[in-house]
Amino acid sequence: MTKVLTLAHYYTTPEVQQLADHVGDSLDLALYAKESKADIIVLAGVRFMAETAKMINPKATVILPDMGSTCSLVTMTDINKLIQWRNSYPDYVHVAYINSSAEHKAVADWTVTSRNVVDIIKYLHQQGKKVIYSPDRNMGAYLNYQFDFNMPLWSAVCEVHDQFNEKELDNLFLQIKTAKFLIAHPESPLPVLKRANYIGSTFGLLNWVRQYSGDVNATILVATEEGILYNMRQARPELNIMQAPIYTGCKCNSCPYMKLNTVTAVKLAQQQKGGVEINYLTEEIIEKAYLPIKRMLNFKI
Ligand code: SF4
Repeated sequence: MTKVLTLAHYYTTPEVQQLADHVGDSLDLALYAKESKADIIVLAGVRFMAETAKMINPKATVILPDMGSTCSLVTMTDINKLIQWRNSYPDYVHVAYINSSAEHKAVADWTVTSRNVVDIIKYLHQQGKKVIYSPDRNMGAYLNYQFDFNMPLWSAVCEVHDQFNEKELDNLFLQIKTAKFLIAHPESPLPVLKRANYIGSTFGLLNWVRQYSGDVNATILVATEEGILYNMRQARPELNIMQAPIYTGCKCNSCPYMKLNTVTAVKLAQQQKGGVEINYLTEEIIEKAYLPIKRMLNFKI
């Protein structure tokens, strides 16, 4: 019998998460795909995640429910220009955020996720290496600011996190009369991150909420995609958790690419009646792109 495994990212809707065998952040999903013995992996996430799963577990058929599920960090990166940029730093190690296409990873030395980026770049610096970082300009700016890294950066952004706005945040802070905390994903702009009580990966933010032991009447503002608020509220229903505001003052911010994973699209993919198989990567790209992924997966903190 064909064994189907469904993996869903935290940024999908609660209804889609309920269809999944496992819900996680990008590192989690990659590790889960690596260990899986399933014949088919339905990846309710975005395309770079499905490509990563395919490279990690080439025996499995990997299905993306909707081929339009890309990511602005991918679409804002012209591969030819990226290669020129990489080649202009010949004696640097190129670290690429996992939110990048397979072609992008193929010209990187390491991949990282928001969970292990600090440890891996610190490690490379301890080895005396010089590092360039792509594609997330906001995350790179934060790393340079926080850890004095001084890395040349590629310039793309997550169109979701880039919308969080410090002025709207300051306005909201003035209105909130309870104690308040801001927790933020490092894809957010630096002025927002400078106001944060905690900065961490999707997994880190969820853990912060799980372990929160302060005033239950406090307001916890979250600067990341709205999907994770479902998991946070499930973990701590007694807490007042809300999304941080964007430019318009709206406390609403969701990833249009993740939301293409509708319940119907995911169910059709699970029944092998829909979705797109990740079968377009050439052997050369897989071979080159898997190397930096493998380095990351083998990295022990
Ligand atoms: S939330 Fe941002 S980084 Fe994540 S998939 Fe959407 S556009 Fe890409």
